Amino acid sequence: MNPADGLRFACQPGCTRCCQQDGFVYLTEDDLRRAAAFLGISPLQFERRFVYRTPRRMRFRKPRGRQCPFLLDSGCAIHPAKPTQCRLFPFWPELVSSRQAWRRTAHLCPGIGQGPLIQIGTAIETASEMEHAYPALYAPPPKPLHNR
Ligand code: SF4
Ligand code: SF4
Repeated sequence: MNPADGLRFACQPGCTRCCQQDGFVYLTEDDLRRAAAFLGISPLQFERRFVYRTPRRMRFRKPRGRQCPFLLDSGCAIHPAKPTQCRLFPFWPELVSSRQAWRRTAHLCPGIGQGPLIQIGTAIETASEMEHAYPALYAPPPKPLHNR
């Protein structure tokens, strides 16, 4: 595998390994509306039940002992309306830009290395959707102020 040429990926049926990794599931305002509509409840009801919001980002609340409130034994309970980061994995900027990171991720994701070859330009374009969706996660840190 050489990320300079392209990447292979095909999500494997029945797998939920990425959903079990330690971490947070962030969502956009559109993600929130889509997931709420999928469950047939209002965005406000959805947010009250499932979301932890700070001024710059939103994420799912973690149930005790689980990483995501929608992870069931049978798979993702909101699969057609899952958040952007779930939909785009493993085409995340930090993974498609680093051969080492992509290889490391292959240890947890059995879909990496499978399926058709995806040109690196296409993978980077897909990954850029992450940057647009989650500016608070990908924006460069503010420069420190200098004392005069
Ligand atoms: S770990 Fe990979 S193959 Fe498994 S569900 Fe996630 S993306 Fe699909
Ligand atoms: S929302 Fe669905 S795809 Fe995303 S982490 Fe939860 S169970 Fe997995």
